[in-house]
Amino acid sequence: MLEERRLTIREAYSEASSFLRRHGVRDPEANAERLLEHVLGESRSGMLLRWGEKFPVEQLGNWKALLERKAAGEPVQYIIGEQEFYGHAFEVTPAVLIPRPETELLVEEVLRLGRLLWSAEAVDSGTGLLRHADGAEEREAVRHRPTVCDIGTGSGAIALTLAAACAEWRVLASDLSPEALAVARSNALRLGVGERVTFAEGDLLRPWIERRERIDILVSNPPYIPEADEPGLQPEVRLYEPRTALYGGEDGLVLYRRMTAQLAGLVALPRLVGFEVGFGQAQAVRGLLEQAGDWDDLYVVPDLAGIERHVIAYRK
Ligand code: GLN
Repeated sequence: MLEERRLTIREAYSEASSFLRRHGVRDPEANAERLLEHVLGESRSGMLLRWGEKFPVEQLGNWKALLERKAAGEPVQYIIGEQEFYGHAFEVTPAVLIPRPETELLVEEVLRLGRLLWSAEAVDSGTGLLRHADGAEEREAVRHRPTVCDIGTGSGAIALTLAAACAEWRVLASDLSPEALAVARSNALRLGVGERVTFAEGDLLRPWIERRERIDILVSNPPYIPEADEPGLQPEVRLYEPRTALYGGEDGLVLYRRMTAQLAGLVALPRLVGFEVGFGQAQAVRGLLEQAGDWDDLYVVPDLAGIERHVIAYRK
């Protein structure tokens, strides 16, 4: 592939792009660029400044090895160990799903509505109440500081982004996979929110029910791909991302059924629930939530492709 003669960085990039294209990699230029940034330890602009320099010889072996992995179909995020989500660089390993851009919209909607619901309460009650007798003081403090819980946190994308955006929110995050939790914990340190996030290993809401946690805001992007759809998935997804993060049983809805059934076991029904759903699932999930609680409003938010992607339920 790359000849031993000294290539410039620009030449290394263009040879890599054509190498990846020959191997049927989609978006060969973007992939070559991300791998090159990684190998050089440069940002995009830093790399462009060095465009005319010679490619560092000591990195040549590493560079070839990474290109081979990409050519074989591995997601670039696992190769470089990182994916950006909501402006933060998240560590990703094959133990976690690669965070997707549409999930940023769920974070955004939960932030918008959560801030509205909890700040309205602060205005209602007035801050003077916080100086009342002990019990009242605590109750008010709790009411002003919602606890948000992310089920199936994976890399921690949703939970940690919320923690970083809202210093006053308490954040819980759980996952069935200890390997995923290790990645989420390391991301919590990366984002500097380690102290404000509580992690637990366990099956959906079970760990929080056992601890009698009061959850005000419940969010989840659970595995939702119907098992029957497996053969049609892109090989990058099907062969590399963790099965337990992808499939939601026969019709894809199994985790939503189980989570909405578990709601009754919590000390109180959350006031705000936000779920990400798969193609064609929004109305079914909306129905499950409708049955599980008394809401003031339930609505569906489309993603940028116009697909019904998030189901939101809340009480004022
Ligand atoms: N909550 C994580 C995310 O949205 C992982 C989701 C999953 O593994 N299904 O990226």
